[in-house]
This record gives sequence, structure tokens and C-alpha cells, in this order.
Amino acid sequence: MLGADPGSENSSVVCIACGESVPRADAREYDKTGDRWERHDKDFEHLCKDCFRDLCHQPREGLESMLIDIEADNLSETEFLDRYLTAVDENPVEEPDS
Ligand SMILES: [Zn+2]
Repeated sequence: MLGADPGSENSSVVCIACGESVPRADAREYDKTGDRWERHDKDFEHLCKDCFRDLCHQPREGLESMLIDIEADNLSETEFLDRYLTAVDENPVEEPDS
């Protein structure tokens, strides 16, 4: 990856939801599930602003149980994202009517 020196402050990260490369400074870290994510590559822990906003629409409990549901040892990044996107697709979240 060009210009993606992991040691650089200007390095970019890949959004875990859409796969978009975004500058690290613009990315939102996603570490709310704690150690669960530590087993994967650190790149998993970033979201672009758009996806971060989208995920915030999801109820925390539903999101976590869904992530736990698709989580598996030795799951590759691609497989995880595949499962994640499929799960989100199968479980549409209704906006709260507040
Ligand atoms: Zn994204």
C-alpha cells in the first residue's frame, strides 16, 4: 500500500465497514468491544466518519451480540467483514421514534 507506513502519523487506515482508506487523523477508533478486537489486526479498529455515524444508529446491545455472533477464532478480515455486512443486512435496525 503506497503511503501507508504504519509508523507514520500521516498513515492511513482502512475503514472496517466499507474498506475505504482514510487518513488516520480522520478515522474514528472503534474499540468499544475491548479485547475482542485485539486478537485481530489493529486495522480493524478504525471506521471512517460515515460508517462511524451509521454504526452509532445501532443499539449497542444488538451490535455487540451481533459481533459476538459472527466472531470466530482465526477469522480472516475478509471473512469477518463478509459476515458483518451480511448480519447487518439481515437485521435492519429501525430508527427509534423519539
Ligand atoms: Zn467506512
